[in-house]
Amino acid sequence: MSTDARKIRLLMHLRRSGVSDHRVLGAIERIPRDVFVPKQFLDRAYEDIALPIGRGQTISQPLVVALMTQALSVNDLHKVLEIGTGSGYQASVLAKLCRRVYTIERHKSLLDLAQKRMLEELHIYNFTALAADGMKGWPEQAPFERIIVTAANRGKEPPAALVDQMAVGGIMVIPMGDEKRNQRIVRFTRTEDGLEREELWPVRFVPLLPDMPEDEVAGA
Ligand code: SAH
Repeated sequence: MSTDARKIRLLMHLRRSGVSDHRVLGAIERIPRDVFVPKQFLDRAYEDIALPIGRGQTISQPLVVALMTQALSVNDLHKVLEIGTGSGYQASVLAKLCRRVYTIERHKSLLDLAQKRMLEELHIYNFTALAADGMKGWPEQAPFERIIVTAANRGKEPPAALVDQMAVGGIMVIPMGDEKRNQRIVRFTRTEDGLEREELWPVRFVPLLPDMPEDEVAGA
């Protein structure tokens, strides 16, 4: 089957599974997922599965990327903060929908590769990437209208720094839960009086970890 045919089959599957936002479907259609997966998995790039990207991390399942992006309800005026750049796939999908993406990854080697793909292969320029601990957010660029976290938050509350960096009216979409089996996507909306919380669907994400890995220091 050709890449185009595989992609069309994936898009039909996303539609049947509840992705109804045409802008989100359009962005997924325009970002070639095969650019973001390691060579040995190229033939599986358009299957609806997470795939390993090195450093024990994964590129998320397309359905999860699509549903989280839809839940984030992004428009072209928004500044979006992403925690967990990984392969750069989710960041690229977001870049098609918003004004600018600020993306943070704690593994510098993954970040460098993601940035290279986005710039050199996809010619995406409306993003800024940082190797750092994303749990601290990006205070110099705050506030953000939208925040998406693509690694599972272990505690019952989202990272305080990220909540502080949400604009009023802003939305954060984040997987929450202590156990791998017990995670859910949660959507927080910041109002004048505090935070509204909506529990969405169950998921499985790699954990959100504090600090930088010991063998990879920021700026190295
Ligand atoms: N959005 C990615 C999926 C990444 S998997 C994609 O589209 O491919 C989650 C990523 O979060 C991993 O790369 C992991 O290293 C990163 N991560 C985990 N904790 C982090 C933290 N505190 N700050 C920044 N990145 C973090």
